[in-house]
Amino acid sequence: MSPSNETTGLTARPLMDTLGRALVDLRISVTDRCNFRCRYCMPREVFGPDFAFLPHEDLLTFEEIVRLSSVFAKAGVKKLRITGGEPLLRRDLEQLIAMLAKTPGIQDIALTTNGSLLTQKRAQDLKEAGLRRVTVSLDSLRDEVFMAMNDVRFPVQKVLEAIRAAEAAGLAPVKINMVVKRGVNEQDVLEMAEYFRGSGHIVRYIEYMDVGNSNGWRMDDVVPASEILERIHAKWPLHAIAPHRPGEVATRYVYDDGGGEIGIIASVTRAFCGTCTRARLSPEGQLFTCLFSGRGHDFRARLRRGETDEQLFDYLASIWNIRRDRYSEMRTEATHRRKKVEMSHIGG
Ligand code: SAM
Ligand code: SF4
Ligand code: SF4
Repeated sequence: MSPSNETTGLTARPLMDTLGRALVDLRISVTDRCNFRCRYCMPREVFGPDFAFLPHEDLLTFEEIVRLSSVFAKAGVKKLRITGGEPLLRRDLEQLIAMLAKTPGIQDIALTTNGSLLTQKRAQDLKEAGLRRVTVSLDSLRDEVFMAMNDVRFPVQKVLEAIRAAEAAGLAPVKINMVVKRGVNEQDVLEMAEYFRGSGHIVRYIEYMDVGNSNGWRMDDVVPASEILERIHAKWPLHAIAPHRPGEVATRYVYDDGGGEIGIIASVTRAFCGTCTRARLSPEGQLFTCLFSGRGHDFRARLRRGETDEQLFDYLASIWNIRRDRYSEMRTEATHRRKKVEMSHIGG
C-alpha cells in the first residue's frame, strides 16, 4: 500500500531527533482554562480573576488541530492525548475526538481530566466519538485534603462518580493520577492503593514536578518514587513488570496477590528523557518539544497564512531533527528557575 494518503498527499517519513528519539506521541492542550485551582498547578494567587487567559479566537480551531494531527501522523505520531487546562471545558470536545479518530495513522486517543464535568452522558458520547482511554486526576480520598489541593472545594465523591461513569461507558481501566506532595497528601498513598486495589483501575503516583514558574516548587516537597513504592510494598508486596512499549512514562508494578496494577511516574528522581517520544501542542498552536521548555514553535501563524501540508511537515522536521531536550536528566536548583511553560497551559 502506498504510504501517502488522500488527506495530506504527504509521504510518511518518521522523524528522529539528535538523541535517536522518534516522534510518536502528541499531547494536545485544548484550553488554558480550568475550573480547579490546584495549588501545585494553578495557584490562585497567580491565576486569579485578573489572569489573562487566551481569547477564544487565539485557540486553534478543531479543523486546525485535525490538520496538524494529520501532518504529525505522517511524521510518526500514532497516539494523541487531549488535555488542558481542563479539556472538558472546551465546547463540543466530542466533535473534535470524532474528527481525530478518523485521521489516518492515529491509533489511540486518550483524555486527561479532573473529572468534574465527566457525567455518564459525556463519558458515553466521548467513547462513541472514538475516545479509547481516560485518565482522571485525584489526589486524595479525604475531602479536607482534596478540597485544599484543588482549592475550589470540589468534593472527592464527584470525582469517584466520574471514574464510575468512565467505567460504565467502557473506558476502563481508568488511570487515576495522584500527585504526591510532601506533608500535604503523602499519607494518602496507601489509602488510594487500598481503595483501587481489585477495581481493575490503575493508580499512578506522580512525583511533584517543577513545571512552570508559578507553583513555588522545592525539592523538599517531592516524595521520591522509591519512598512511595516502599510504603505500598511494605503493606502489599509488589513486583515490577515490563512497559507496554518503550517510552512509557510510568514504571509499572503489580501486586503479588493479584490485586492489580499501579504506576509510578518519577520524572524528578528517575528521569526518563532517553525514551521521550512526546511533543506537546498548546491551545494557541505552539509546539513544545519538552514539558519544561520556555519557548514554543508557532504553527498557528503558518496555518493561518495558508502554508501547505508539505511546508508544515518541513517546519516540524526542522524542529524535531535538531531536538536535544533532556531537562529532567539535567535538573538542578538553577535549571528549575528558568522560564518554563505552565502545566495548565501545556497539559502535562
Ligand atoms: N485538568 C486536567 C487534569 O487535572 O487531569 C488535565 C490537565 S493537568 C495539567 C494534567 C496532569 O498534570 C494532572 O494529572 C495533574 O495532576 C498533573 N500535574 C499538574 N501539575 C503538576 C505538577 N506540578 N507536578 C506533577 N504533576 C502535575
Ligand atoms: Fe486544573 Fe488539572 Fe491544573 Fe488541577 S492539575 S489546576 S485540574 S489543569
Ligand atoms: Fe521529555 Fe523533557 Fe520530560 Fe525529558 S524533561 S522526559 S525531554 S518532556
